[in-house]
Amino acid sequence: MTQRRNSTPLKIGKVIVGGDAPIVVQSMTKTDTRDVPTTIKQIKELEDCGCEIVRLAVPDGEAAESISTIKKSASLPLIADVHFDYRLALLALEAGIDGLRLNPGNVRDFEQIAKVVAAAKERETPIRIGVNAGSLPGSFEPDAPLASRMVDAALEQIKLMENLDFNLIKISLKAFDVPTTVQAYQTIADKTPYPLHLGITEAGLPQAGAIRSAVGIGILLYQGIGDTIRISLSAHPCEEVFAAYEILKSLGLRQRGPTLVSCPSCGRAEVDIIALAEAVDKHLKKITKPIKVAVMGCVVNGPGEARDADVGIACGKGKGVLFKKGKKIGVVEEKDFVVALMREIEGL
Ligand code: SF4
Repeated sequence: MTQRRNSTPLKIGKVIVGGDAPIVVQSMTKTDTRDVPTTIKQIKELEDCGCEIVRLAVPDGEAAESISTIKKSASLPLIADVHFDYRLALLALEAGIDGLRLNPGNVRDFEQIAKVVAAAKERETPIRIGVNAGSLPGSFEPDAPLASRMVDAALEQIKLMENLDFNLIKISLKAFDVPTTVQAYQTIADKTPYPLHLGITEAGLPQAGAIRSAVGIGILLYQGIGDTIRISLSAHPCEEVFAAYEILKSLGLRQRGPTLVSCPSCGRAEVDIIALAEAVDKHLKKITKPIKVAVMGCVVNGPGEARDADVGIACGKGKGVLFKKGKKIGVVEEKDFVVALMREIEGL
């Protein structure tokens, strides 16, 4: 894996993004921000599932004004997502928001941006320049490749903010197309020191969207690019957080909760390994310890993987050999597989 890009750290509320801070997991509420109790409830759910920064849509003045009440009950840093109307950014700042996301494709007027930057500077509130392939400004060379037009849109906004003596900047360059997104981030990574927020935008439903995001974000993280990630899924935001941690865990960048190693099953299996893995996975949802659990179907790879896990089982006909921390600790009947595994897991 390539050494991580050296970005300038930023503080968003209590969370550091960039530098050598851990890659931060973000998500976004899917509630109407004006519905304060429901939004607070979803922020709490996000906190419980491991989210570290939450973004809220701020489509109108009422949503912006709700922020001050929401903030009193939210322990996670909050970012206001603002499009079109710079006054919403000013209202969000007045309400005490921890960070702003501005879209350079739809907040274009220099005077308006200067007012937002002045207010953010006064409060030391970071701004993410959130470029999206679907809403690029029209003033760039239309025949240039999409990735370079995205980078140009970000660089223009960076220059504008730097000229206003503002550098609490974070950047994102999101597209649905993975090669375009990867190209855009790779290009900007060498051109600025600012932290990068990674994402594949509008990635889709959880199954395909998580894979698409894992490919794009995984390539960049492996190359040392990226300081914070958000997985955009058409699903409850905790599914986004789950997918984000699975990506980070796969690259050894973060640890959270159990990792389940389960074999795919084949004609050698003498138990229903898929049903067993699903049952174990359901129980593991309640565990927060970063442990490795193996559920294996036969003697081919079973004992090796099960021995390598914190707790594992290598199944045979009607029986399974249970392993804990590399040692065989017993043989259990098929009907007791899940109970025996969970007993050992809970005792770790
Ligand atoms: Fe098949 Fe055994 Fe491999 Fe599972 S561990 S896929 S049952 S050979």
